[in-house]
Amino acid sequence: MLSDEIGFCPRCGVEVVDRQAYGRVRRVCPGCDYVHFRATSSAAVAVVVHEGRVLLIRRAIQPYRGAWGFPGGFQEHGESLEETAVRETLEETGLRVEVERVLHVAHTRDDPRKIVNAVSFLARPAETCGRAIADGLRAADDASEARFFLLAELPGEIAFESSRAVLDALQRAFPDGEPR
Ligand SMILES: [Zn+2]
Repeated sequence: MLSDEIGFCPRCGVEVVDRQAYGRVRRVCPGCDYVHFRATSSAAVAVVVHEGRVLLIRRAIQPYRGAWGFPGGFQEHGESLEETAVRETLEETGLRVEVERVLHVAHTRDDPRKIVNAVSFLARPAETCGRAIADGLRAADDASEARFFLLAELPGEIAFESSRAVLDALQRAFPDGEPR
């Protein structure tokens, strides 16, 4: 069962039933007439490009545990998607980034937990002075590793169709593997 589905009414606790409501079959409470509108979740990822390399994390959790992907995650309530991308990148890599622009928007169905609108933002390190950016990476939270990769030398297993689409587009845009 996807995490936005319910078995019992969140208002009164009665077991819900499937019933026609507002144009389609929905979970409806026979006790208080609560109608459950399923929600599509939102997620944001940061496509951090620095000195010709792109930042990827190795996933420490399911789905796609062990595969590589962009730092990112689900949007918290009250948070903008740009804030999600910045927060998740800091949590998973220790790197502070600034969002530049939207690169890609996808409606994804390959996360078994939820159906997700996934927005990928082009981002850059917020601080570029001092020690090398790559040396300051610290994988944590949902990530077991964090590394910059040349586009021509990406790891084999990439998590999520939407991330593969973004990387494919980057590789097409920069066939020499050197985004700037
Ligand atoms: Zn109810």
